[in-house]
Formats: sequence, C-alpha cells, structure tokens
Amino acid sequence: MSNDDAPSVQRRGLMLVLSSPSGAGKTTLSRQLLGNDSQISLSISCTTRDKRPGEKDGVDYRFIDTATFRGMIDRGEFLEHATVYTNRYGTLKSEVLGRLREGRDVLLTVDVQGAASIQAEARRDPEMAAALVTVFLTPQTLSELERRLQKRNQNTPADAAKRLGEARREIARWGEFEYLIISTSIAEDVRRMLAIVDAEKMRASRSAAPEL
Ligand code: 5GP
Repeated sequence: MSNDDAPSVQRRGLMLVLSSPSGAGKTTLSRQLLGNDSQISLSISCTTRDKRPGEKDGVDYRFIDTATFRGMIDRGEFLEHATVYTNRYGTLKSEVLGRLREGRDVLLTVDVQGAASIQAEARRDPEMAAALVTVFLTPQTLSELERRLQKRNQNTPADAAKRLGEARREIARWGEFEYLIISTSIAEDVRRMLAIVDAEKMRASRSAAPEL
C-alpha cells in the first residue's frame, strides 16, 4: 500500500498557486499538470469577463455578472478576488479549503495580485501557510510573450498591447514567488512543475514521521 492510500497518514493537501502574465502558457501547463497527477484538482474561479470561444461555464470558469460577484464578496465567499484588466476574478473558499482538509492538492491559477492576497492570508493563517506553494511561470523575454499573445489571437490588438504592458509589471514581481519556471517547452514546463509538487510533498514538515 502506498503512503497516499494509507488511512493512518493524515497528509494535508498542497495549495499550488500558479501565476504568470497573460499568454505565458499557464492554462496549457495547468491542463497538462492535472492530466499527469490525478491527486491535483483545479480550483475553478469566478469571473465577470465574457466567455471566449471554446470555454465552458463551470469548467474553465464560473461566468457570472458583476452584481452576483459583488454579492459573493459581501457574503465572504472568496478566498481572494481581484480586478484584472477590466474584469473581476475570484477564488472561491469552497473550491479550496475543504479539499485541502481532505488531503487533496488544489491548483489555483491566479494573477500576481491574487497570489499576493493568498500569501498575505497565509501570514495570518498557519494552516494555509503550511499548504501554500507559489510558482511563477514566465517566458524568457517579453517579445516571446508578445509572439504567444499574437498567436492566441483571442484578444483585440488594443487588448493585447494592454496585456503586454501589464505583463511587464507582473514579471517584475517574480521574486515574490517560491519557484520560478522560465518556460521552454510544454513538456519541460510540466516536468518542472511535477518536480516541484514531488519535492514539496517530501518536505519533512509535511510528512508522517517514520516508524521507529
Ligand atoms: P484570462 O481572462 O486570460 O482567463 O485571465 C486573466 C488573468 O486573470 C490571468 O492571469 C488569470 O490567471 C487570472 N485569474 C484567473 N482566475 C483568477 C482568480 O480567481 N483570481 C485572480 N486574482 N486572478 C485570476
């Protein structure tokens, strides 16, 4: 029986916070990570932005209107929320906290503001601090990001230019994260992310004591 199946092991889940500037490949990396590690589940965020072609409500995001979003803030339903460009995004407590307590790993893909809010919360909450792992994904250069944004072709030129300016400010905050993945290929990015998850699970502070 592996350690993960053993009922006596009370492993708490990892709260994997993955941030990157828009267009850096975070969505692809998350999908691949989820496909490679069945213990990790995705926290599905709420957003007020319009659905892009191919996106599904309840799978990619919960697409909600601004009034509903405000109501959820008032009821304290978000772990963190932020305005990104002109839209609002938020991580639901219900997507994260219960799963961590059940020992399941949860992946949150949020912008740098979201990651900073979660880190601030973790400074107040030791339980969250024990679960938190922060990773920043970025291409080597801004021109590489520009190329990826153009390739994605889901944004208007004005929107892409705005995202690029924002990306520069976001990349400047890479030092706030525990891990930095300079994106090379999808396969290599996934390998590194899995290596981070593996190593974090083996931290002595998270492991059950060996039997003596
Ligand atoms: P997009 O509109 O391209 O899907 O996402 C725009 C940005 O918002 C991305 O950096 C994405 O990671 C971020 N984002 C998505 N969900 C959340 C969330 O729940 N909270 C925060 N703070 N950012 C989010």
